[in-house]
Amino acid sequence: MSEIDAFDVIVVGGGHAGCEAACAAARFGARTLLLTHTFATVGEMSCNPAIGGLGKGHLVREVDALDGIMGRAIDRSGIQFRMLNLSKGPAVWGPRAQADRKLYKAAIQDIVQNQPNLSVLEAAAGDLLLDAAGHVCGLVTEAGRKLAAGAVVITTGTFLGGLIHLGAEQIPAGRVGELPSQQLAATFRRLGFAVSRLKTGTPPRLDGRTIDWGMLEAQPADAEPQPFSYLTERITVPQIACHITRTTEASHQILRDNLHLSPMYSGQIQSRGPRYCPSIEDKVVRFADKPSHQIFLEPEGLDDDSVYPNGISTSLPRTVQDALLKTIPGLENARVIRHGYAIEYDFIDPRELTHSLETRRIPGLFLAGQINGTTGYEEAAGQGLVAGLNAARHAGGAAPVTFDRASSYIGVMIDDLVTRGTSEPYRMFTSRAEYRLSLRADNADARLTPLGMAAGCVGSARAETFTTKQAALRALQECAAAHSLTPQRLQAAGITVKADGRRRTALDLLGPYAVPPEQVFTLVPEIQHFPASIIRQATIEAIYSGYLDRQQADISAYRRDEALVLPTDLDYDRIGSLSNEVRSKLSQQRPPTLAAAGRIPGVTPAAILAILRYLKASPAPRAA
Ligand code: FAD
Repeated sequence: MSEIDAFDVIVVGGGHAGCEAACAAARFGARTLLLTHTFATVGEMSCNPAIGGLGKGHLVREVDALDGIMGRAIDRSGIQFRMLNLSKGPAVWGPRAQADRKLYKAAIQDIVQNQPNLSVLEAAAGDLLLDAAGHVCGLVTEAGRKLAAGAVVITTGTFLGGLIHLGAEQIPAGRVGELPSQQLAATFRRLGFAVSRLKTGTPPRLDGRTIDWGMLEAQPADAEPQPFSYLTERITVPQIACHITRTTEASHQILRDNLHLSPMYSGQIQSRGPRYCPSIEDKVVRFADKPSHQIFLEPEGLDDDSVYPNGISTSLPRTVQDALLKTIPGLENARVIRHGYAIEYDFIDPRELTHSLETRRIPGLFLAGQINGTTGYEEAAGQGLVAGLNAARHAGGAAPVTFDRASSYIGVMIDDLVTRGTSEPYRMFTSRAEYRLSLRADNADARLTPLGMAAGCVGSARAETFTTKQAALRALQECAAAHSLTPQRLQAAGITVKADGRRRTALDLLGPYAVPPEQVFTLVPEIQHFPASIIRQATIEAIYSGYLDRQQADISAYRRDEALVLPTDLDYDRIGSLSNEVRSKLSQQRPPTLAAAGRIPGVTPAAILAILRYLKASPAPRAA
């Protein structure tokens, strides 16, 4: 196989980060190798069979806007599309779809196999090759094969030193039934990276034929499923309902009686799990006053009897899991296909990374996904795309591309990780973003596709779809502006507006005034000829237009601070009024800009002012 011995980019790991990284590097034009244990698990959903949700749905849309693959794959495999948070404004709506596991994996594998410039090799990476300057120049597989590369991206998920806990049992594994990556884990420690442990868990899988569905509340899919990808016209996969049940007082008694057998409470697991996705034993302790907890029963596929009970992740012994199920309505006779478990794994402190996801310690080495302390497929995909694109740019001698907090949730996530680090599995929420009104799931393409086109990760089909859509949007806005109506005319049609002499456009009516589209069409018939999706998009923009001007001013101020680069050799000891704690944090973390310095916990506005004064007094700071 000598023809695959040298590459521009090697991506290790065929999970959600790895597949995006490999495809992004290949789209950029880099000769890319995806090296993973086995092709059969490429695109595997290790835990819940769903993509998207609050905050996470935004990430998927952003990945798609940059021509990533996750949105297209879920559109080909989603069996229950739901827009979450519809009672709130569109800025925080959360697109989510439950997936048919097999169809999702097949879609990812199909996209990977058909991606030009991308080859796949089934092997385990064990060590890194460094050149005399300490830059990465390839890797060695566990079997001893050397592969050369201009850049390497590591996306090993929960596999680095992975250890499964099920009651008192401990099994070295990356996921159930898959070997962990021990050699690579040792490599990171040997190279001096800051390595710590995190944990996550998964619930038992149930045989749907043994669940009493008749007594449970059904939750249907949306009547009009909204695709994730800007390239998908409509969803054609059949849609199904999920069902809802709840734990009972008897369930909680069993959990309390057996807490000492939980690896988390017995002290067997020391590391932190995801605070926002706790195990069921953790929930009964932390929310002791709650009489019950909701469980969503999610079928894992259209032709699959396996059901994922979302809400009862656990690592309690098998006998306790069996007893617990008997206390839950509808699950009294449920047969367990596979018991739940927890897994502990190594992660690298993400403060080791720059905003391009390259490690500071080893130039040319990039990290993405769970290895950076995050949890979730979407978080992994967003990082994978950025790491893969930048690895390809690094290998080709191009400058890195980074995403700031005002551009995207991807930018928020990466900035949080590389400036603050994390002590628990990091997941995305809309509340993490300062500029939520601008960073909507609906406008991810307007925010990011032009950026992706300039950076070299957006293909021609996507670019064409984007340009056509933007032209239609502009045409609708111009048409609406050309057919505005006086307050008298609107009042005559039964629409209450102030008699202030100001003419209103159809988009004013659809947006801020929330007039039903059918009524607007009777007043301005010209706009009904535009596609429904374009009218919907223009309406959302009209809703926010007043607020967006104000937010734009905040964004400009933020970008001014962000543009003030802190010299890499800045001597913080020379800045008089900094406390020792702040000085040591800044010296250790070396924030790239003034804004990044301000986001380091403990760095006060007074400290920022002191840095600014010092820079003004010394030779001119550079703009980014
Ligand atoms: P993964 O999807 O894990 O992919 C890693 C890939 O790397 C695999 O293909 C593996 O074969 C490959 N690989 C590893 N080491 C090597 C090597 N040395 N050489 C070659 N290939 C290698 N997320 C949530 O959001 N909520 C949850 O509740 C949740 N629970 C989870 C429970 C469990 C038990 C597990 C295992 C994961 C859970 N997750 C959960 C996490 C979710 O699965 C991950 O966040 C996501 O899959 C991370 O994507 P990734 O690409 O970083 O890694």
